[in-house]
Amino acid sequence: MPRADGPPEPVLVSACLLGRRCRYDGRENHDGVLERELARRGLRAVPCCPEEAGGLPTPRPPAWIERDDAEAVLDGRARVVTDAGADATAAFLAGARHALETCRAHGVRRAFLKERSPSCGVACTHVNDAVTPGPGVTAALLRRHGIEVEGVEGRRP
Ligand code: SF4
Repeated sequence: MPRADGPPEPVLVSACLLGRRCRYDGRENHDGVLERELARRGLRAVPCCPEEAGGLPTPRPPAWIERDDAEAVLDGRARVVTDAGADATAAFLAGARHALETCRAHGVRRAFLKERSPSCGVACTHVNDAVTPGPGVTAALLRRHGIEVEGVEGRRP
């Protein structure tokens, strides 16, 4: 609900859902349904792409969590690897920390994140190149710190 007595509530949103071409393949996931819903509810989108913020280029190789889950990545017990087998764990962790810092800087308490991403996925992510139940690295870190996360599919127009 919009705040009756103050500025709009800031919410973190995966930048690709807002039309930024920051996906691994250089495309976007613009979600017009989400944008209209945020406007209707009086919410202000704070865009964030954890993978770019973590230092990865666009385009970049596809990546996934190796064997385990995002909690294991956060705890240093699992890696994120690219399709060529390169270790991308440090960049994914840096991106997740950037997202958390962005939430803190803007007073964000909830986030709308792109489903199935190894960073942003909420209900599903990629493990060993397969869609797997469980959050991505950023969603898992935000949840650990009390940020409410909601998965969004990337609907058009
Ligand atoms: S899903 Fe997240 S990490 Fe991937 S492009 Fe969108 S904002 Fe960036």
